[in-house]
Amino acid sequence: MPVSSSANSDDAFAEVKAKVDLVKVVQEHVRLTKRNRELWGLCPFHQEDSPSFKVNPQMQSWYCFGCQRHGDVFTFVELIEKTDKRGALQTLAERAGVELRKLSPEQRERSDDRKRLLAMLKLAAQYYEYVLWSSPAGEPGRRLLVQRQVGEETARRFQLGYAPAGRGFAEYLRAKKRSLAFTARTVHQDEQRKYINSPETPSYVKGRVIFALDLAKDEIARRGHAVLMEGQFDVITAHQFGVGNSVASSGTALTEDQVRLLKRFTDELLLVFDADRAGQQAMRKAAVLASQHGMRTRAATLPDGMDPDEFLRSSGAQAAERWQAVVDSAPSSFEAGVAQDIAGFNPSNANQMEIVAGRLREWIGLFPEGLRDGYVEVAERRTGISRHLLLRAPEPKRELKQAPNGLSRQIAGKKTTVSRYLLQLLAVNPAAFERIRTKLTPEELDDEDRGIYLRMLETYDRAGASGLENELGGYPAEVQDLIRRAWAAPPPNVDGQVAEELVARLRLDRMKGRHSGIIRELSEAERGREAERVARLEAEARELARAINDMERSS
Ligand SMILES: [Zn+2]
Repeated sequence: MPVSSSANSDDAFAEVKAKVDLVKVVQEHVRLTKRNRELWGLCPFHQEDSPSFKVNPQMQSWYCFGCQRHGDVFTFVELIEKTDKRGALQTLAERAGVELRKLSPEQRERSDDRKRLLAMLKLAAQYYEYVLWSSPAGEPGRRLLVQRQVGEETARRFQLGYAPAGRGFAEYLRAKKRSLAFTARTVHQDEQRKYINSPETPSYVKGRVIFALDLAKDEIARRGHAVLMEGQFDVITAHQFGVGNSVASSGTALTEDQVRLLKRFTDELLLVFDADRAGQQAMRKAAVLASQHGMRTRAATLPDGMDPDEFLRSSGAQAAERWQAVVDSAPSSFEAGVAQDIAGFNPSNANQMEIVAGRLREWIGLFPEGLRDGYVEVAERRTGISRHLLLRAPEPKRELKQAPNGLSRQIAGKKTTVSRYLLQLLAVNPAAFERIRTKLTPEELDDEDRGIYLRMLETYDRAGASGLENELGGYPAEVQDLIRRAWAAPPPNVDGQVAEELVARLRLDRMKGRHSGIIRELSEAERGREAERVARLEAEARELARAINDMERSS
């Protein structure tokens, strides 16, 4: 380690600052996306859904528009590690390989403690690995690995060791004149601790660690999603069989901290949970929790109730291919929940319909408001239960809000409309303009959405699919907010097909609105005995009803 030439601490700050890159430091905690010359992400210092945290690589500075916090790399580390300026300097100096002269006795002690612990953990890992591979005592462990089809390379990557009964390591340590109480289990888990922001906690904290995240992170980036399994051994087998983006929550139900940790690496989780009731309950909880942090989840089902370990080992050479089929066919977790709720349901039985609608209302209600509108659509399509029934809130106050005019699109008291959903979809997937632009007349959109639609379309025409990202700064603030929110928490499905369905739905709603308008006019005309007008309106209403009928049948 090169020794800093300066005893002066200002110089030490400058030297460290010159050697570390703010972007890299931030990226260990925040996933950044490039827009123009700046990098954006979700602020780690306050709760938010749309990115307002900005890093400027040229200036090596950061700023959050949400909580107004800002600063340089030292300020960032100070806040994220909940330390002081000196503590941040120490952390970053270690990282940059700059040795600091004037440490306080406590700082020196803390730093030494940490080094001692890490050295000890490394020693233990090496010892148990040595036992596994090179000692007769490791024979049962080697046999077990052969039996589970885990090769040496995978086992070494996971730093698997074997702890035979007795006091092997303690004696080994005594021989080395050290002592420390910990278990073999701790060894690997501590290795991942660098992803946890808790320097004040020098030991493994259950519920804050994701098993194998360190080994899986590159593959997660490559495949665009992480596979979350229940068992740690499932994960080891998965890596052995090429599913290198697999991780597990460490022996607990998925926690908020773990979701935040995962979100630094991906927006999508594939949940592979046991097919039994407990497993499926856990899947639902994980899906809801992840959605609250703006993550999408899908739920995979393995054939014959197998767990991932059994499934992959029994697939042998076809493992990769069969796994891909599982991934491809996995529905969203929301849909998987719907499928469970409607299993064995007979739609012609009114009583059953009521029960199932109740279950679905409850399921939908667990998700963040911004998702519910889209989920109601999905549930309606999937079950044939009318959206009116799926939306009916239990409180009478809310029921009143549901004006029975057929056009009410107030979702659970929140105004997320079909028209708004379409805008969100187009913000996330501007290419969908191609599918709908000739099918949609702007008049069919809600009044407040029409201008936004036209402006987005204009940007798209002029600047292409990336135009919105580049020109967002020029949009009115509330529109920027709408679009950023859509980016941070996209609607459940954003493909062109769905855009077309939404457009059809808008047209249908508009036609229904016109139809009830004509019916109102008709009764007026009847009261006034205007025979000619009545005849004309009747013909119009019939025509419209037929068109509505056709449309509903074809969708
Ligand atoms: Zn902030």
